[in-house]
Amino acid sequence: MRVVITGGAGFIGSHLTDRLLSEGHEVSVLDNLITGNFNNLVHHQNNPRFQFIHHNVSNHIHVIGDVDWVIHFASPASPIDYLHFPIETLKVNSLGTHNTLGLARTKGAKYLLASTSEVYGDPEIHPQPESYWGHVNPIGPRGVYDESKRFAEAITMAYHHKHGLDSRIARIFNCYGPRLRLDDGRVVSNFIGQALTNKPLTVYGDGSQTRSFQYISDLIEGLAKLMAVDHHEPVNLGNPTEKTVLELAKLIKELTKSKSEIIIKPLPVDDPKRRLPDISKAKKLLNWSPNKDLVEGLTETIAWYREQLKIKV
Ligand code: UDP
Repeated sequence: MRVVITGGAGFIGSHLTDRLLSEGHEVSVLDNLITGNFNNLVHHQNNPRFQFIHHNVSNHIHVIGDVDWVIHFASPASPIDYLHFPIETLKVNSLGTHNTLGLARTKGAKYLLASTSEVYGDPEIHPQPESYWGHVNPIGPRGVYDESKRFAEAITMAYHHKHGLDSRIARIFNCYGPRLRLDDGRVVSNFIGQALTNKPLTVYGDGSQTRSFQYISDLIEGLAKLMAVDHHEPVNLGNPTEKTVLELAKLIKELTKSKSEIIIKPLPVDDPKRRLPDISKAKKLLNWSPNKDLVEGLTETIAWYREQLKIKV
């Protein structure tokens, strides 16, 4: 198979690229590197089945040759990134989704959209099933991401219904692991980076807000399984083990044996209070559920950050 993956130099995109190349496929990555990093792919640069195209997919996409799958993962995805790049975020999830859908249609390729638990906004239902329509503030700071991903889902479904596009939509919940950028501002990378450099761990608000963290390898397995089934509506992929942010800070402090203190910072605007995936659909449809325990996953992630920061144990 030949796969075109947008955002393939990012955290999730690069792990998916690894997986597809390891299965013997050809992979063409399109990325403009505003939040992605070619270092995530550098180990493939001499692989003849790998191609990197520096391109902003919000502009017209031209790919030469046959394509079997188009996978659209390009987008700033952490709250600080989409605050820095609000227009780029809106464009890549609207114009970029339109362009990638057009590419898939022209090539007769299948299509996978990376959607997000952010389509549920600050949810009022726990856990969140795919049937929940969400609780999103369209004009708040997170609206640029939430609303454009909601649009991306809508246009993908429209291409499926109107043009018979063979599409999939993954609603991805918080994910962590090696290659999550140290400066991307997300809670796992912030806390580990702070703990390893003896800086205070910055808990926003009172730390009682929750998230449910899945390890990257579990997500990649879920995405591969989703690609293999004939199902066009959104599917949640996440780990239903819920933790408060304060619990996470304490756990990371313990696992890194850090002496850093935990300090309180203001809660960002519209920060969701609870996030917990209902994964019954993925379990039934894909026979998938995450199996990496949080302590084990964090331990592996911490080891990777130590290497990045050149910190000896
Ligand atoms: N958070 C925190 N300290 C940090 C970074 C994030 O307390 O240094 C909190 C943030 O307010 C949110 C949760 O951790 O409640 C997860 O934030 P993240 O940016 O990882 O992603 P989100 O799930 O909000 O998209």
